[in-house]
Amino acid sequence: MQKKTKIIATLGPSSDSVAKMIKLVRAGVNVFRINLSHSSQEIIKNYIEKINVVRNKLKLPVAIMIDTRGPEIRVKQFENKVVKLKRGQMFSFCDGDFLGDETKVAITQPICVKDAKVGGVILANDGRMKFKIVAKKPDELVCKVLSSGELRNNKGLSFKSQHFDFEYLNEPDKNDIKLALSLGAQYISASFVNTKDDLIALKNFAYEFDKQIKIIAKIENETGLKNLDEIASNCDGLMVARGDLGVEASFEKLPVYQRKIISAAHKHSIISIVATEMLESMITSIRPTRAEISDVAKAVFDGAGAVMLSGESAMGRDPVACVRAMSKILKEAESEFDYHSKFLAMPKTPKTPSELVIQSAVSASFFLKSKAIVTYTSRAKSALRLSTRYAKVPIIAITENPNTYHALSLMCGCVPYLKTEEKTLFESVQKVCSKFKLAKTGDMVIITTGSTDQISNMLKLETIK
Ligand code: PEP
Repeated sequence: MQKKTKIIATLGPSSDSVAKMIKLVRAGVNVFRINLSHSSQEIIKNYIEKINVVRNKLKLPVAIMIDTRGPEIRVKQFENKVVKLKRGQMFSFCDGDFLGDETKVAITQPICVKDAKVGGVILANDGRMKFKIVAKKPDELVCKVLSSGELRNNKGLSFKSQHFDFEYLNEPDKNDIKLALSLGAQYISASFVNTKDDLIALKNFAYEFDKQIKIIAKIENETGLKNLDEIASNCDGLMVARGDLGVEASFEKLPVYQRKIISAAHKHSIISIVATEMLESMITSIRPTRAEISDVAKAVFDGAGAVMLSGESAMGRDPVACVRAMSKILKEAESEFDYHSKFLAMPKTPKTPSELVIQSAVSASFFLKSKAIVTYTSRAKSALRLSTRYAKVPIIAITENPNTYHALSLMCGCVPYLKTEEKTLFESVQKVCSKFKLAKTGDMVIITTGSTDQISNMLKLETIK
């Protein structure tokens, strides 16, 4: 049996070859992520070209996700690239264009200098450096250094619990989104989403180039958490972006936030992804720590539909070993997971007829001990809903749309199938069941399909002939 939980691998120098990508897909990768913060347009083109070669060689679905920079706040340049700051000294973040030194540096977002409050805290270096704003002067936030460290050119800053009215989309993100959509990406993971308006701005821009693009909102701060419900209503998935969330929120809150974000995704029937430091030690080591093994399994037990590798696959010593380890842990956790109890515990008042059909399909799969649920999907909407309902059996998602075929590979439990020459849906069902050894003669499968307006409105019980 294939694993149900999907794996996203971030591309980087350690995974930048067709041969390596083929091994990664064979080991269990379903989606490749391109982090725009570290990729020029040339790099984006190079990755997408290679993914297309991998798809053609393996004849398997692989989704492409681009991850935006978002409204980042960064320091600009220093005279000597880096400064050493000591606890207790004063240091200023300024609006302007000058080379910084041991007393001050310019930052990329003037609005932060204008609107930040005295008493607020600024974090740098993944939270290892801390500054307290003690005074404001024109174009300058005067801070006391609370923890010593080195601050380098272009380092990201986090203004703890402070929200600024940024323009959500910046020019570099717009240019890269346009390029990636013209080359055929299926997902945009949107960094630092604070409100539904951020998603609306992104969708208004991206839908001009591709109406099918799916948006994953990265929840990376307390404002995003506060607005979780409105964010979840306006996107196709949520990512627990533990890297930045762990800088802004107190670390002991992370496991609770993870569960909260995953359950919001289930409530809205959208994708849920747990990201960052899942197998961090494997960047340099040959095996995961015990804590990492438990962390990956916990993502399954929390109900996550996908997990993500960042540095491990982008610049680690052996990305393929990481994915093999992750796949093994996922399969083991899934084999112990009580899908039926989770399904029964979900709210059972469908809001639409389509939801009733989806719910009934999953219910029938448990009751009749069917071998699979089959759905015919043009834009992956019914498959997405099914994938969040804790079905135990595989969800065979049949489509004629090549873009949907690849997009389906991020949906939990989905086995994408690109319908080609078969004349009827049932012919496709027979073919895919035997291709993936999912059901044999005499086994029952549950079939659900929609009409042209993409609403699931048919439920059928079929026996494989
Ligand atoms: C994160 O912060 O956890 C994350 C996934 O975002 P990025 O890798 O872009 O920092």
